[in-house]
Amino acid sequence: MHQDADELEELISPDRIRARVRELGDEISRDYEGRPLVVVGILKGAFIFMADLVRHIRGPLVVDFVRLASYGSGTRSTGEVHITKDIEVDVEDRDVLVVEDIVDTGTTLRYLEEVLKLHKPRSVRICCLIDKKERRETDVSVHYVGFDVPRGFLVGYGLDFDEHYRHLPGIYRLRPGYHPEGFR
Ligand code: 5GP
Repeated sequence: MHQDADELEELISPDRIRARVRELGDEISRDYEGRPLVVVGILKGAFIFMADLVRHIRGPLVVDFVRLASYGSGTRSTGEVHITKDIEVDVEDRDVLVVEDIVDTGTTLRYLEEVLKLHKPRSVRICCLIDKKERRETDVSVHYVGFDVPRGFLVGYGLDFDEHYRHLPGIYRLRPGYHPEGFR
């Protein structure tokens, strides 16, 4: 596996992810029943989830990406979010599905919802791979959730720590105490 596997504890196996992503795709396909969708992934963390998810959504869709910066190079949020790449597809009067890796405090998605509103979509729903809802500080409604994970700093399947570990096939908890800041 990974060269630093000692500091990683597998939380969600690649098989469980595969099965859950398929279920989410089925659910989304049923809900939209062939209505055209604009699927907007949040870079970089959602890139692998997004790629797998869209292949399980039946019906017409287009994809786009936004890039938001909310975390610095460590594991702690700065609390500030800004957009570094806006959407490029016209979403006016269209149904938008935002695909996010993790919803933590909710700050990032709250901000993105406001930005998207300016583009006048018909509807916006959020699909996240991991919901840390016990840590929520802002009210955001997440319509599709892959897994609930109460705590821990997670890596793998697109999620990074200082840009490392994104390529790992499962989701792993960085062992407590590994990081000098002592992330819970
Ligand atoms: P929020 O704005 O909801 O507090 O934070 C959401 C963002 O923080 C996610 O998109 C993700 O980039 C980052 N984040 C939150 N928890 C984790 C985690 O456990 N691991 C990683 N790699 N990123 C996280």
